[in-house]
Amino acid sequence: ASSPDWSRLRADFPVLSREVHGKPLVYLDSANTSQKPQQVIAAMDDFYREHNANVSRAVHALGSEATEAYEGARRRLAAFVNVPADELILTSGTTFGINLVAYSWALPRLKTGDVILLTRMEHHANIVPWQLVCERTGASLRVVELAPDGSLDMDDLRAKLTGEVKLLAFTHVSNVLGTVNPVAEICRLARKQGVVTLVDGSQALPHRAVDIPLLGCDFYAFTGHKMLGPTGTGGLWARRQHLREMPPFLGGGEMIREVRFEGTTFNDPPHKFEAGTPNIAGVVGLGAAADYLSAIGMAEVEARERALLAVATQRLSAIEGLRILGTAPGKAAVISFLVDGAHAHDLATLLDLEGIAVRSGHHCAHPLMAHFGVPATCRASLAFYNTEAEVEKLALGIEKVRKLLL
Ligand code: PMP
Repeated sequence: ASSPDWSRLRADFPVLSREVHGKPLVYLDSANTSQKPQQVIAAMDDFYREHNANVSRAVHALGSEATEAYEGARRRLAAFVNVPADELILTSGTTFGINLVAYSWALPRLKTGDVILLTRMEHHANIVPWQLVCERTGASLRVVELAPDGSLDMDDLRAKLTGEVKLLAFTHVSNVLGTVNPVAEICRLARKQGVVTLVDGSQALPHRAVDIPLLGCDFYAFTGHKMLGPTGTGGLWARRQHLREMPPFLGGGEMIREVRFEGTTFNDPPHKFEAGTPNIAGVVGLGAAADYLSAIGMAEVEARERALLAVATQRLSAIEGLRILGTAPGKAAVISFLVDGAHAHDLATLLDLEGIAVRSGHHCAHPLMAHFGVPATCRASLAFYNTEAEVEKLALGIEKVRKLLL
């Protein structure tokens, strides 16, 4: 097959043709949230214009069209990660998915003396829910540290996977360092010790082919808005055994079979975990996003982003006083950097005046910032729709801003 026409694909993203402060937008904040192609926007628009109704309730035509659109999107999303559709809970995003596991799986099981193992590179969404569980159960947190290049210290992981560990929760791809963790290997080590695994797939799905069964984890959470889908969408895959054993997280409509004041029987998974009217149009948009990525092919996306990352790494490394945090081999196209003598926020603010959108701050990863001894970094995160010319603009922008700030 011939390689994709990247400039034609870029033209699918309406916002990428706008200007900011009189300059063409250079959007380098896709790890924060990705831009959306017209196909995703059109799918949601079409849903509201032509099919809008609630799901799983009404027998009228629109009711069944809406249900089919919603369940069809679930099937396409499930196929995208190679799992059965009835094992995929639709959520509002990764944060919701992790909290669901915290409240429905961990809270009833963990007790004093139990340990939840995390890593130094986790997003707050994969830290705070576990702290809340620890407060209520008496369990405690333990943290796997990093090697200097920002990869996980696998010896430290092995040493800390002891008998008290009940859950290992870790990210597939770091949103700050770009590190891609060896998920299958990590899950194999955990399984040998009988430890349940949760993987935060937020930054993996947009950039790598993810075949969940090959990873061997117990739970896999992801968010739709980083993979070209709308905000307020996402998924949580869980092993069937867990889905059967876990009590519901939230109660309400859709998740029940029969409600009587004496007691309620619940719907089958995944519906048991989807109380209330869901984000139907959003899920339809997310289904369209999965289709869009599938049509390009995730291997093509990965190759494209690797090429852009190589150019960006080489070009930025050549800038005097610039330091990149996270250099693990095979990393995803995220570049966190610091420039000697320049505050990350000042850098990002001045880059914005050049039309260049990068994120500055702690990236919801305070413990990781502490590890590097910095309060904040600047982060340029790439997607397949970025170009080499944009990478060059970033480099020129940093050089210009550096002169202003020094
Ligand atoms: N985990 C990681 C690694 C992330 O990058 C993010 C989003 N920045 C999240 C979790 C949280 O995702 P959401 O806010 O969509 O729930």
